[in-house]
Amino acid sequence: MKDKLEQLLATATTQIGEAGTEAQLQSVRVSVLGKKGDLTDIMKGMRDLSPEERPQVGALANEVKDRFEELFAKRLDALRESDIAQRLSQEKIDITLPGSTSVAGRKHPITLVTEEITELFASMGFGVAEGPEVEQDFYNFEALNIPKDHPARDMQDTFYVDDETVLRTHTSPVQIRTMLKGQPPVRIIAPGTVYRRDSDITHSPMFHQVEGLLVDKNVTFGDLKGILTTFVHEYFGKNIGVRFRPSFFPFTEPSAEVDMQCVICKGKGCRVCSQTGWLEILGSGMVDPEVFKSVDYDPTVYSGFAFGMGIERIAMLKYGVNDLRLFFENDVRFLRQF
Ligand SMILES: [Zn+2]
Repeated sequence: MKDKLEQLLATATTQIGEAGTEAQLQSVRVSVLGKKGDLTDIMKGMRDLSPEERPQVGALANEVKDRFEELFAKRLDALRESDIAQRLSQEKIDITLPGSTSVAGRKHPITLVTEEITELFASMGFGVAEGPEVEQDFYNFEALNIPKDHPARDMQDTFYVDDETVLRTHTSPVQIRTMLKGQPPVRIIAPGTVYRRDSDITHSPMFHQVEGLLVDKNVTFGDLKGILTTFVHEYFGKNIGVRFRPSFFPFTEPSAEVDMQCVICKGKGCRVCSQTGWLEILGSGMVDPEVFKSVDYDPTVYSGFAFGMGIERIAMLKYGVNDLRLFFENDVRFLRQF
């Protein structure tokens, strides 16, 4: 029986050493310690031994069992460790491989120019105000001194949602909304999308404007000239000529259109400026007292000026784009240039 036990341990030791996987190792264990295992068999046979032999063989059987468990545990640890090591080597990240980069997006030129203009006026103390694109007739026309029979309200120019609701035709209703919120001082610019029933090479039914409004005590036309001249010089260049031409808008009096020296020909005359050397870039004027009345500002106490410009036009002049439609076709080859 002793020989049997020693033989068993020798065989099991070899088998444990040869087990290449955890499953193989477990089956060695079953063949030794399982219900029908070799060691279990030997233990069962112990009842046939004499009372003198039994303790000796019993002690040896336990020793073999302990030794077996010890070898088994060691081998199991080793197998698990090498398994982890193998997985680590297979799954590790090779940092020497070239990375896959994602393509960075860019801002649309209209967004870019809007932000540049906003930033410039912010540096002169103007905050940003916004309003809805679907606007009530009152804000878009009535409060801005545009009476019912004014040509600007013509069906041909305005998208009507219903009799009292329009797609705003300019950003000027934001002036009204801002002034109705409280008394002066007011110093805002309002960038946004506007809509008109116009579509050709130089007009799009949807385009963008920036509106400006400054109201306080003792605001003069000189302030208007100063702010807008500073804008042109900061945005287009220090030495660019600026001129103010008398004009008419229902919501300003007096009104002026602002021209700057042609940035293409530097004033000599070219196709872009129709040989005049000048480019019209914005409309402006002193806020009409009628507008103040509709927002409950006292025109004998307060005065102010307003201005508005088309962002597409500013973008075309700033970046030398010669076709308005390029802004809306979303051709990435065009957009990538900004
Ligand atoms: Zn020119």
